[in-house]
Amino acid sequence: MTFPDSIAVPASVVEIVQRLEDAGHETWCVGGAIRDALLDDPHSDFDIATSAPPDAVTSLFPHTVPVGIKYGTIGVLDPDRVLHEVTTFRRDVRTDGRHAEVEFGATLEEDLARRDFTINAMAYHPLRREWRDPHAGQEDLDRHLVRAVGDAGDRFREDRLRILRALRFAARFGFQIEAFTWRAARAEVAGIRDLSAERVRDEWYKGLRSAKSIARFVKEWIRVGAADIWLPELIPPPKGEVGETGRWRRLGGSDAVEVAPESREIERGDVRDPVVLTVLMCLDPVAVFRRLKASNSEIQRATAMMVGPLEPGGADEISVRRWMAAVGEAANDLVKVWSLRHKTPWPWEALMQRIRARGDPLTRAELAVTGDDLTEAGIAPGPTLGECLETLLAAVVEDPSRNTREELLAIARASVHGA
Ligand code: ATP
Ligand code: MG
Repeated sequence: MTFPDSIAVPASVVEIVQRLEDAGHETWCVGGAIRDALLDDPHSDFDIATSAPPDAVTSLFPHTVPVGIKYGTIGVLDPDRVLHEVTTFRRDVRTDGRHAEVEFGATLEEDLARRDFTINAMAYHPLRREWRDPHAGQEDLDRHLVRAVGDAGDRFREDRLRILRALRFAARFGFQIEAFTWRAARAEVAGIRDLSAERVRDEWYKGLRSAKSIARFVKEWIRVGAADIWLPELIPPPKGEVGETGRWRRLGGSDAVEVAPESREIERGDVRDPVVLTVLMCLDPVAVFRRLKASNSEIQRATAMMVGPLEPGGADEISVRRWMAAVGEAANDLVKVWSLRHKTPWPWEALMQRIRARGDPLTRAELAVTGDDLTEAGIAPGPTLGECLETLLAAVVEDPSRNTREELLAIARASVHGA
C-alpha cells in the first residue's frame, strides 16, 4: 500500500500547523489520528508535534492551556474553544518504567523513535502533504500487526504501560501482536506491578470499551501475564482441578473468556460499561475495583450487583415489583449482567417497563405517608417506626392501589396493635 495523496485534517488543525510553520517551526500531525485515518476510521483527536519549544507555542496563540507542560504539551484552543494538543519534539533522557524525563530540541525522527508502536509513529504534513514513516508503520497496518518501535524489550522496560497499550490496540483493531513484541511483553510483564492503579484501570476500561472482541482482549491479558498481577480474579482454576473449579463456580466464578460478550451482543445489549463487564467476568469484582482504586460510586455499583438478586422470584408483576424495590438503583446494571451471562435478553423487561411507566411506588420516599405522619398517629419513633415503614412498603409493593394516606395509617395502626 502506498500512502494516500492526502488525508482529511480539520481546518482548525491546519491553521495551527500553518501558524507554527509561518513562524519558522517545523510542524507535523502525528500519532493515533494518522493511524486511524489510514484505517479509514477517522478520529478527531489530531496530535500536533513541532520543533517550537513550549514557550514559543504559548506566545503564538492567544488561548493556550499548559496541559502537560513538563512533557512539552500545550493545549491550543481554536476559535470554537476546541482544545488541540501541540507537543514539542522530544527525546527521552531517563526512564524508570513509569515516568520519562524528556528533553526538547529533538528532531521529528527522534520524536517518532520514542513512540510505542510503529502504527503510532507515523507523521503527516497537512500543508506539504508529505509522509514520514521511518519505522514502517504503514506496512504493519497492512499486515494487522502491533509492533514495538525498535527493540521491544527496551521499549517495555522504559514504560511498562506499553505492554497494556499493546493489548488494547491489538484488541481494538483485531490485530496480532508481532512475535518479538509479544515475547518481550511476556518477558517484561512483571514490571507492570509498579504501575499506578489509575493507569492500569484506565487501560483496562479503555480496552473493554474499544475491543472488537472482549473475549480476545481478556484472553490476551491472561496470556501475557497481566491478569496474574492485576486481575487474578479473571483467571479460573486450571481445567481438571474439579474440586477447585466447582468451588469457583459456586462462588459465582465463570470462565471470563467464555462469558465475555462478543461485539454483536455488546451492541445489542448496549453494554460497553467496564463496571458491568468486570462484574460479569471476575470472581470478586469488589476486590478488583478496590485494587484498581476505582471511584466509590463504581465500588458501590459493583457491591450492589454482587448482592443482587439477579432476577425476580417469579414471573408475575408482584414478584418483579418486589425485586425492583429490593435492588433499587442497581436494577439496570443487574439486567445487563443477567442478559450478558445468559446471552439472551432479560425476560422481565416488559413488566419492568410497565411498572416504571405507571410510576408504582418502590421506595419508602414514595409512600403516601411520612415518618412524621406515623409518629403523629402514635407510632413510637426508632426501630418500631422503621419496621412499620417496611411493612407499609411491602404492602404497597404487593398492591400499589393501597398507597393512600388513610389506608397506610390504618395498616400502621393495625400492625402496631397487632404486635
Ligand atoms: P487513542 O485513540 O487511544 O487516543 P492514540 O494513539 O491517540 O490512541 P494516545 O494515548 O492518545 O493514543 O497517545 C498519542 C500518541 O502518543 C500515540 O499514538 C503514540 O505515538 C504516543 N504515545 C502515547 N503513549 C505512549 C507511551 N506510553 N509510550 C510511547 N508513546 C506513546
Ligand atoms: Mg489519542
